[in-house]
Amino acid sequence: MFDALAERLESAWKTLRGQDKISQSNIQDALREVRRALLEGDVNLQVVKNFIADVEAKAQGAEVISGVRPDQQFIKIVYDELVQVMGETNVPIASADKPPTIVLMAGLQGTGKTTATAKLALYLRKQNRSTLLVATDIYRPAAIDQLVTLGKQIDVPVFELGTDANPVEIARQGVAQAKADGVDTVIIDTAGRLQIDQDMMAELAKIKQTVQPHETLLVVDAMTGQEAANLTRTFHEQIGITGAILTKLDGDSRGGAALSVRQISGQPIKFVGVGEKVEALQPFYPDRMASRILGMGDVIGFVEKAQEEIDLADAEKMQEKMLSAKFDFSDFLKQMRLLKNMGSLGGLLKMIPGMNKISDEQLKQGETQLKRTEAMINSMTKQERTNPDLLAKSPSRRRRIARGAGYLESDVSKLVTDFTKMRTAMQQMSMGGFPGMPGMMGG
Ligand code: GDP
Repeated sequence: MFDALAERLESAWKTLRGQDKISQSNIQDALREVRRALLEGDVNLQVVKNFIADVEAKAQGAEVISGVRPDQQFIKIVYDELVQVMGETNVPIASADKPPTIVLMAGLQGTGKTTATAKLALYLRKQNRSTLLVATDIYRPAAIDQLVTLGKQIDVPVFELGTDANPVEIARQGVAQAKADGVDTVIIDTAGRLQIDQDMMAELAKIKQTVQPHETLLVVDAMTGQEAANLTRTFHEQIGITGAILTKLDGDSRGGAALSVRQISGQPIKFVGVGEKVEALQPFYPDRMASRILGMGDVIGFVEKAQEEIDLADAEKMQEKMLSAKFDFSDFLKQMRLLKNMGSLGGLLKMIPGMNKISDEQLKQGETQLKRTEAMINSMTKQERTNPDLLAKSPSRRRRIARGAGYLESDVSKLVTDFTKMRTAMQQMSMGGFPGMPGMMGG
């Protein structure tokens, strides 16, 4: 009798687990989907190839979470890796021990560099950091005016020497001014070109060498797509960046440039621009960006939920525990959640001998009973959950729980009695007997 039951329980656990390992063959479709999602998300082709190959190798042989298909879980692994590669947590902007912190802004024309300069000043002010903006773009006549106007709008001073001065000199004097004024951070806006241009790069390099910034931020337009990779490579090789700001994420770009920038430079994205207004700057959050790039929020949410509720290791420990005297209310609660996660009780119950004739009506009652039970267990203290005997002995504890869960003391008493009976029954079962299941499931 016991052998048959053990076998059935075993097969029930197997079904719960689904296919138990990630392999080349069971993730083929997912691989294709992920590759397409990343490319559609504007991640550079080479970056996609390298990234997927890494993740695929890492995922081989990984245990699959109960109730989740291997291909779904693979997508989650890709997502986790995306989050990790992009930096896991948000990296704040540098703050020099000895002010001013010097920030150099770099990037092509039209990416939103000047706007980002003002946005950053406003952002820092909210952290009580004063700023001075420095306008060095003498080539585009309107550029200095644009920064001055933005400065007025946010009430931040702008240092400029007109369009006849030398940009390197403007930067040097700007930093000196910031020091003299005791300003916390000086942000230097620089000239961009429509394309990478050696004169522009040489000038930028000279400014950098002169002012020795704590941060050199590359401003990248998220709409640049695939090109973001080359852009980053050139700027990083020739200038050296410490981070990036990804602008125009309010548009419909999926933001794959973020992965390209990070993979190629190894430097974090620090902020994202999400609109034309000066307030539209947010710290960069890798998890949000990963969801956006993959565009597979549903799958990821599903796997995360399953991961939370059923841990493979947990399921195995549970099986052992169920057959021992250590099974307590916390385990019972987990067990119930596991059952709920599977959708309906019917499937599992029908695999248990003596339960296969259970009617739908009885099942429904069972589910209601489970809800009540869950509410009562939720009202217990941690100590009470691990030690059901405490409840058997104390009417005041039972009353408190009943009040908390919205039931009667007699309901709690019944739960405790049934639970104790069930536990004894499970122990006997493990010792070779099969006494039948007591009334826990509403029978
Ligand atoms: P720069 O040439 O790199 O200094 O670019 P600008 O700061 O002048 O910005 C170019 C254009 O992009 C302007 O029309 C800005 O309003 C716009 N812009 C900048 N950042 C963003 C953003 O995050 N979202 C949107 N939608 N527009 C932006």
